[in-house]
Amino acid sequence: MQIAFWGVRGSFPVCQAQSLRYGGNTPCLEVDAGEAAILIDAGTGIRAAGRALAKRGVREIHLLLSHAHWDHIQGFPYFAPLHQPGTSVRIYSLRRPGTSLRAILADQQRNPFFPVALEELPAQLEFVELEEGQVVAIGDTRVYSRRLNHPSLTGGFRLERQGRSFAYLSDVDLYTKLLLGAGLQTPSAAERQQRLKELLAGACDLAHCADLAVCDTFFRPEDYEPSWGHSRPEDALRLARDTGVGQLVLFHHEPHRSDGELDELLAHYRRQAGGALELIAAAEGLALSL
Ligand SMILES: [Zn+2]
Ligand SMILES: [Zn+2]
Repeated sequence: MQIAFWGVRGSFPVCQAQSLRYGGNTPCLEVDAGEAAILIDAGTGIRAAGRALAKRGVREIHLLLSHAHWDHIQGFPYFAPLHQPGTSVRIYSLRRPGTSLRAILADQQRNPFFPVALEELPAQLEFVELEEGQVVAIGDTRVYSRRLNHPSLTGGFRLERQGRSFAYLSDVDLYTKLLLGAGLQTPSAAERQQRLKELLAGACDLAHCADLAVCDTFFRPEDYEPSWGHSRPEDALRLARDTGVGQLVLFHHEPHRSDGELDELLAHYRRQAGGALELIAAAEGLALSL
């Protein structure tokens, strides 16, 4: 399994001299799938991914969306394959009550926000709304999804193929006492704690013995804001240790974090991991092979 990183930044894209090396585009990953391609999230990184796919003549694309926060869908209207007749793009996300995946993406590019409406795109679009825990097959890749603790309705994914596994856990606050997310709230503190436990168990299921886990590490401990729904590197390390992850990728970097600060952060947590776990900081252009 080949995994390419096209966008690694959280919240909003940045273009500044201090972060050119790790990159400033918002989340998008590509997983090879033979003649087809699997993409995860449609942040601004998907623009360059789309150009590369169009150049390679890929006509079958599967796009997994973790959630609809802007940094995960804002690149979608600029995704070149959507503007190519004869291309099929199948888009997957957890089902959310009260709205559809199609409506969310159509709203983002309706007049006056964008000149081309979703209905006018020449590519063939298909929307797949997943039930939590549902497993889908994309060629010989199996995709698992679970809900994560993050505002709105957010899913994580696990991809498996030929005995190799990869977990994508962005965005999520893993080890918190604060339950986040639409439709989960309840007046009972005991019930909220129970739901948090279930969400963490879901994240652990996705990461269980994964060869590679890509995990939200937006915050440093000193910046941590409990209501935002993001983790710190120590949270990701704890999850990786608890679930037997092989390689951990720090991901969804805070937009103002400079290359130098990310280097320092990585060095610090590599010392903490003590060689038991291979630790990498996601960067645009990084490609990993499992
Ligand atoms: Zn995000
Ligand atoms: Zn988010």
